Amino acid sequence: MIVFSGAALDRAPTLRRDTGWLEAQRAQPKAHAVLMSERGVWIGDGRLAFERPSAAAVFLGLMDGAPVFADYVEGREPEHGRPAGLREAATELPATEAALAAYAGSLLAWHRRHRFCANCGAATEPRDGGHERVCPACKAHHFPRTDPVVIVRVSDGADALLLGRQARWPEGRFSLLAGYVEPGETLEEAVRREVLEEAGVALDSVSYVASQPWPFPSSLMLGFSAVAERGDPTPGDDELAEVGWFERAELEAAARGDGPLMLAPPYSIARRLIDAWLAEPGR
Ligand SMILES: [Zn+2]
Repeated sequence: MIVFSGAALDRAPTLRRDTGWLEAQRAQPKAHAVLMSERGVWIGDGRLAFERPSAAAVFLGLMDGAPVFADYVEGREPEHGRPAGLREAATELPATEAALAAYAGSLLAWHRRHRFCANCGAATEPRDGGHERVCPACKAHHFPRTDPVVIVRVSDGADALLLGRQARWPEGRFSLLAGYVEPGETLEEAVRREVLEEAGVALDSVSYVASQPWPFPSSLMLGFSAVAERGDPTPGDDELAEVGWFERAELEAAARGDGPLMLAPPYSIARRLIDAWLAEPGR
């Protein structure tokens, strides 16, 4: 399963608009809230540390009939657990709880960054269990953002993958090329533009593989695979310091943790795409 996905929740999008229903859920004995602070999500003994939801908690959904909320902890310490960054949570928590943490983190981050109307500047108010904000002054409706990012595994159709190193990464760390989708672009166009821009490589075929919520703070990684002629890749903008083809043997060693090449962590879709190719080369 893709990490940060599979929360196994019923998000109850119709029910949550009913404030009477929502308040009854909040008061239920089984109601519990994921806790987030600026230091991360609260965990204890490898599990999420839940508390009763506050009046301000946003509604995530129903899990086995129990209402699940998310609360932003400000100015107090929860009784149990400790804060963990979402990358740490991805490796410490069971998959369904890592997905809940990602969902809670993205939704709460959106609320903190959208307190004021982008249209007129007035303070906005949460609605729909926390899945919308409404401006009382100009009546604009604001919805949680998800920023699409394409990430692409480019192979030479035989035994090598195209990887790049961002200028801010340490020596030896390489990953698949990725970039934000721009307005007016299809996903496939964004894939082709990014690879041409960042590496000077023109892609032959491009096909969609899988996606991953990426809560830093609210991206959606859209994973593609592509095939290209080898050519001579060169960094085309300031983003990449190095770019090049890596042979299967180097990639296999890196996946085992051997050698100078360092790949993305196992919970990332970048790594999932590379590992899938290693298991079935030539794509
Ligand atoms: Zn407004």
